[in-house]
Amino acid sequence: MSNITFTMIKPDAVADGHIGAILGKIAEGDFKIKALKLTQLTVADAKKFYEVHAERPFYGELVEFMSSGPIVAAVLEKDNAVEDFRTLIGATNPAEAAEGTIRKMFARSIGENAVHGSDSDENALIEARFHFSGREIF
Ligand code: GDP
Repeated sequence: MSNITFTMIKPDAVADGHIGAILGKIAEGDFKIKALKLTQLTVADAKKFYEVHAERPFYGELVEFMSSGPIVAAVLEKDNAVEDFRTLIGATNPAEAAEGTIRKMFARSIGENAVHGSDSDENALIEARFHFSGREIF
């Protein structure tokens, strides 16, 4: 797999009823869906997924939030997927995100910011495999 990125529609956006609108933005951005599921992270899953942030002051809050309700996990394919997807989602803080980006449109706050997007090709693969078995990626 190359040119893939991994995303989650986070618990805030699922609870706020934005799954359909966010998948629409992903389709408009010409990303192809390679894997997709509604699921929920356990506290242990969220700790592991975000372990690079373990020393950050918001780690506990992040783990609690990410395991607080259902998420949509997906693997997306496009040329230049990681960078193009980060452009589509916008800055971490929705107050600083560009107009028309997913976070600008749907995020609640810097912590509850609607979507995750991988930050490198290497992490995209690690994150895709964390959430999906080989049989679930097409
Ligand atoms: P991203 O790559 O844009 O998602 O941002 P980071 O890798 O820096 O942070 C990972 C996630 O941690 C973000 O998407 C937010 O959900 C959360 N986060 C980042 N900064 C803060 C913060 O200052 N406060 C809180 N509560 N959460 C944060």
